[in-house]
Amino acid sequence: MAAVRRETPESDPWLKLLEAALAESETSAAWETAVPKPAAERPAKAPLLSHIRIMLDARAPRGWVRRLLELALPAEARKIDAIALLEAALCHDDARIDGLARSGGADPAVLRVAGQMALLPLLQACARALAPAVPAAWWEGYCPVCGAWPVVAEYTGLERKRQLRCGRCGTGWAIPQLRCVYCDETDHDRLGYLTPEAGEQTRKVEVCNSCKGYLKAVTTVRPLAPWAILVDDLTTVPLDIAALERGYQRPERPGYPLECRITERRGWGRLVEVGGGWWRLLLRGLHHPPSPPPSSTDLRRGEA
Ligand SMILES: [Zn+2]
Ligand SMILES: [Zn+2]
Repeated sequence: MAAVRRETPESDPWLKLLEAALAESETSAAWETAVPKPAAERPAKAPLLSHIRIMLDARAPRGWVRRLLELALPAEARKIDAIALLEAALCHDDARIDGLARSGGADPAVLRVAGQMALLPLLQACARALAPAVPAAWWEGYCPVCGAWPVVAEYTGLERKRQLRCGRCGTGWAIPQLRCVYCDETDHDRLGYLTPEAGEQTRKVEVCNSCKGYLKAVTTVRPLAPWAILVDDLTTVPLDIAALERGYQRPERPGYPLECRITERRGWGRLVEVGGGWWRLLLRGLHHPPSPPPSSTDLRRGEA
């Protein structure tokens, strides 16, 4: 990341968000406990997180989103609802994020990026925990965990196996044959590559002349770490520009809309709601605490 910062100083604000998200991902236990069970009866083509409900402990996630927004949008951080932002980002609902930005007076483009960064610790915890549940034969072009389009196709190892990588949750999935990830085109005459003119043997851009979609590709010795996918995506922007200039694009719509809900688990609120009688007893207990247990000196005095 230090190297990226040196080469592209303009990426610094973005790298700060990514570093904060990685630190949160590594240090907070709040996200592991929020990982939901995939719905048992979901359509065969639905990603694991489609139509699920995620329960979050309120305080830690709100604190995290606030800290991140203070880096990205310091003046508006307090006006954006953290849980609504996480939910909209998870569902890839850019229209809803734009609505949150408008009502909070924030720049929608910045809030879209901040929303995805805010979601990173939760999504990566889900991807780690749900990896064993990913169907072995997943033939879709979108991520089997979170429904996003891949940001890169990796050709790994000696066999150069093609593996698609999700830029949101980091999941990788193999698509054995050459096929457009967006429209399933398999006709070789309709599929092609853009390759950099000089040097760079490890880079190319896969393009489809049926849907005009493109996907960056890289040859690697071993699969990229989930965070490295994001840095790689940032450092290969010239490839995106080359593809866009030739009339190719990435779809704006998500691969598979998740339609998830994120709700808060409210400890005290819940007690007040359901336990009308005994929470008052608990409060009385707090005002008149029971006498403390005897200390060891008291005990010895008693023995004497
Ligand atoms: Zn994903
Ligand atoms: Zn296509």
